[in-house]
Amino acid sequence: MRGDLRWAWAEIDLDAVRHNIRTIRERVAPSAVWAVVKANGYGHGSVDVARAAIEAGAEGLCVALVQEGIDLRRAGVDAPILLLSEQPPELASAIIEYRLTPSVYRREFLEALAREAPSGLPVHLLVDTGMQRVGTHPHAAASMAAAIAQRAPAVRLAGVFTHLAVADDPSPASVEFTDRQLSKFAKVLEQLPPVPLVHIANSAGALAHPAARQSMVRVGIAMYGIAPSDALDDLCSDLRPAMELRSRVSFVKQVRSGSAISYGLKHTFSRDTTVATVPLGYADGVPRRLSEVGGEVLIAGRRCPIVGVVTMDQLMVDCGDHDVRVGDDVTLIGEQGGETIRAEDWARRLGTIGYEIVCGISERIPRVPR
Ligand code: PLP
Repeated sequence: MRGDLRWAWAEIDLDAVRHNIRTIRERVAPSAVWAVVKANGYGHGSVDVARAAIEAGAEGLCVALVQEGIDLRRAGVDAPILLLSEQPPELASAIIEYRLTPSVYRREFLEALAREAPSGLPVHLLVDTGMQRVGTHPHAAASMAAAIAQRAPAVRLAGVFTHLAVADDPSPASVEFTDRQLSKFAKVLEQLPPVPLVHIANSAGALAHPAARQSMVRVGIAMYGIAPSDALDDLCSDLRPAMELRSRVSFVKQVRSGSAISYGLKHTFSRDTTVATVPLGYADGVPRRLSEVGGEVLIAGRRCPIVGVVTMDQLMVDCGDHDVRVGDDVTLIGEQGGETIRAEDWARRLGTIGYEIVCGISERIPRVPR
């Protein structure tokens, strides 16, 4: 278990996932919550997270890839699984075999599905109202819905949705953009027959834009207890982070003032100090640059700066005059002795988002239940 395979592991708190789903459900009721578990559940383990989310009342799951849906089905997950974008047409038969719900926006993909589907395959029409990534143009949505209707009974229109580009940004220009997306989508809905599931919101949309909630919301990052952006931190204060990244000190030494450390000898010590080595690095998802931007770890509840570049499998921290020993607990992300380092803290320092941090924790890191 913890630290048995190696002295670095991620602790996954499925109670936190359940708590977050319940909290979000209360917040967005009567909208249903579908849990986004793509990219191995944002690095948390898709099967366990999916089960926890369903237990806590999520009504469906969303993934990016057919393989991600197959993995869930093979693990016995029975809930509806929505593919968030079109997939290679040659995967149509796998989509049907594994009871995945495809998104559609191109006729070629619709044809491929209709050819394979015995009957009643639910599909969701994705309309691009401003993200400009994928989706049917709003002007073409009604004719795409008609094309789906023409392929009945092989397929049926079970959902229609869009995706917000700047829901995580409360600046007036972004709020105005989101409002424009919402009104474009409302116009599309006016042209369609009634569709059972209508959805717009990701986490930021669900939390910050009540008008985006509709019949269901697609919640990823908030379920993992991470804020979509710093600006939405306050809206996430009742959510609990579901991942902690932990390790143990693997080596301790005294270093002299004036000596330097790690590749490139980029950090020179300005005093005699104690340095601890921690056995994980950039191949595990700790960005190489983290030391340059003031990254820290917690040892015995104290903040210790990472010194020198992070190497592939190991990093070094300056422990000052603390009494540090091989085997001591190290927290890279999480809480220790009343101090906390969040994925969002890494993200802020590195100029990225919490999503990239947790998705980047690599497969080399064993995931263990908290
Ligand atoms: N919906 C779509 C189409 C997405 O691509 C994503 C994630 O990127 C989500 C919902 C979930 O977003 P979030 O993690 O911000 O809740």
